[in-house]
Amino acid sequence: MKTVSSLLDKEWHERYKRISKLNIRSSIYDVTNQCNLRCKGCFFFSSGEDKVANEERNIKKWEAFVDREKERGVNLAILIGGEPTLYLDRIEAFYKQLPTFCATNGLIKVPRDRFPDMVVGISLWGDEEDEKTLRGKDTFSISSKKYEGDLYAYYLYTITPRQIGKTERIVKKIHDAGLKVHMQLLSNDEGVYGFSWKPEELKDIRVEMDDMLDKYPKTVISSKYYHKIITSGKMLGRSFGWNECPSVTEPLDNRDPKPKRLIHFIRWASDLKTMHRCCTSETRDCSICKDGAAHMSWVMVNKREHIRSTKDLQGWIEVYEMFAKLYQFIPW
Ligand code: SF4
Ligand code: SF4
Repeated sequence: MKTVSSLLDKEWHERYKRISKLNIRSSIYDVTNQCNLRCKGCFFFSSGEDKVANEERNIKKWEAFVDREKERGVNLAILIGGEPTLYLDRIEAFYKQLPTFCATNGLIKVPRDRFPDMVVGISLWGDEEDEKTLRGKDTFSISSKKYEGDLYAYYLYTITPRQIGKTERIVKKIHDAGLKVHMQLLSNDEGVYGFSWKPEELKDIRVEMDDMLDKYPKTVISSKYYHKIITSGKMLGRSFGWNECPSVTEPLDNRDPKPKRLIHFIRWASDLKTMHRCCTSETRDCSICKDGAAHMSWVMVNKREHIRSTKDLQGWIEVYEMFAKLYQFIPW
């Protein structure tokens, strides 16, 4: 029988042991329904998730809610929105109690005297032209000045089909700003013309993502196995989609049979009562979903299936390490 020990040499086994202790239990929280941008393709607004719940305004209720989440076993709070930095007191309710990650568009800087080591993921949707088309402004020019050299911030670079052949310039700009970058792919929830992926484009962008990792290994937080999975939507001969997705809110998960999934995962709306279907858009067609975290988690929850060859298990370890680095459970 194949076992972890039989497939890994000493060095890989040490890496495996380091991550296997982590036992990460994440959930996702909409901090607010408001945003200081309105990006075309934002899953939150395009699916109407900003309208399903009235946001809770009493900070004491946020604090009590975080207590309950901690008791529920959550050890990683992923804050999204809308734009979380519009409500720093709500962010603080999480940060005081739990390892906390904050997604932001980077227009407002998280004050580091108040949140010294909170990991911040700054969204970036391509080059200046793409950002102006999709988000109304070149956010990088603002966010990179605010976060230059920040040790706990990285760019969440959403690559669009128009970025093929152009990613190096972006990665280099991030490298020069002393920041890290993680790459994911646009799902184009609002069907903006020219921004949906064609099969040959996905093959091309995979090669380019691999190349960026080879050229900028200290800047790019990624793994080639992740590139393969996110661009192909395939893992070990299986196809990603509703039947396989690990990031469905547990109390709403009526799939039968249930796939391997994130334990106790919930995505909460900002009224602290309503739950959303999954980690991303309520209305997205799962067959075109390119959500990066969902694909990473898909690999992570299927550990046993990767204990079949050294290469498969090493791929699993690299994806788990990447996830742990992105939330600073292990250093970059
Ligand atoms: S900044 Fe984020 S939350 Fe705001 S509109 Fe853009 S994608 Fe949506
Ligand atoms: S849209 Fe994506 S993350 Fe949501 S359930 Fe479908 S596959 Fe999963």
